[in-house]
Amino acid sequence: MQKLSVVVTGGAGFIGSHIVDAYLALGHHVLVVDDLSSGSRENLHRDAELIEGDIRDEKVLARLTSLKIDVISHHAAQADVRRSVADPAFDADVNIVGSLRVIQAAVKAGARRVIFASSGGAIYGEPETFPQREDHPRVPVSPYGCAKLAMETYLNYLRIVHGLESVALRYANVYGPRQNSRGEAGVVAIFAERVLKGETLIVNGSGEQTRDFIHVSDVVRANVAALQPDVSGSFNVGTGVETALNEVVDAFRAVSRREIRVEHAEARRGEQLRSVLDGAALRAMAQLPEPLAFSDGLEQTFRWFEERLS
Ligand code: NAD
Repeated sequence: MQKLSVVVTGGAGFIGSHIVDAYLALGHHVLVVDDLSSGSRENLHRDAELIEGDIRDEKVLARLTSLKIDVISHHAAQADVRRSVADPAFDADVNIVGSLRVIQAAVKAGARRVIFASSGGAIYGEPETFPQREDHPRVPVSPYGCAKLAMETYLNYLRIVHGLESVALRYANVYGPRQNSRGEAGVVAIFAERVLKGETLIVNGSGEQTRDFIHVSDVVRANVAALQPDVSGSFNVGTGVETALNEVVDAFRAVSRREIRVEHAEARRGEQLRSVLDGAALRAMAQLPEPLAFSDGLEQTFRWFEERLS
């Protein structure tokens, strides 16, 4: 494979840092743009170069423009759904305007391909069919989802009119080592820390709401596939397996072999009841293996948190 010069925005974050590791292992040159607002240097591979700053900052953009770039993997985002509801304009400023600016700077620096971190759960809204395929109606129920969908639309425009190759990866609920437990979405990371500290797990609502939990190693495989010239368009990155929150709690009981107390809090208004993505299209196209089973992925993830907190 040709050695590429890749910019990974958000490369000091949870998913981005694993992609950086994989691209470096393949021999590509990797430059990270990250303002470290939710990511950290600790996550960053020492062979990755870092431009520390905001994707909306003119100085950061000017530096990017002066480089020679082949691919931009855009993972930096305002990734908090609740914050997007509280301040949709801020969300759009980072996730739409910021995204366009950083992609434009990379294109000026020669980039011919964009890989974009989209979100299956957020852009499909409350599902009509199960599991959701890529052609499921897209009816986002949060400003965050609106912004992800808007960016996919811009990428289609850039592909059709300007010939810019792009791959939008619509992630399910990603979990694994390095996930930040401070966020609101990382239920596996939040539960792992609470279990290890002997704290009660808080489940919003009945716990029967379902999600599709995909291990970060499968997400990395999708991002490696997305470098191939024949892969383009929007693809789900999910397992097709629906897991209820109550089952997640049981899985924690099994891997931790501890007593776990659970308290049910009020259900969150507007929270989706079910979400599960059909990830078969990308797996077939890029000949990717079946995704890791949740029980195996959770075991590996829990051990990581255990080591880190001990
Ligand atoms: P994360 O918070 O760990 O990573 C985001 C990174 O972007 C962080 O390192 C943060 O410091 C950086 N960042 C944020 N705003 C920035 C800005 N304005 N300028 C520069 N850097 C900035 O989150 P993650 O879970 O790794 O998510 C990565 C991407 O994947 C995001 O685009 C997110 O929307 C998307 N996504 C994640 C999931 C999931 O389950 N984690 C699901 C669907 C989509």
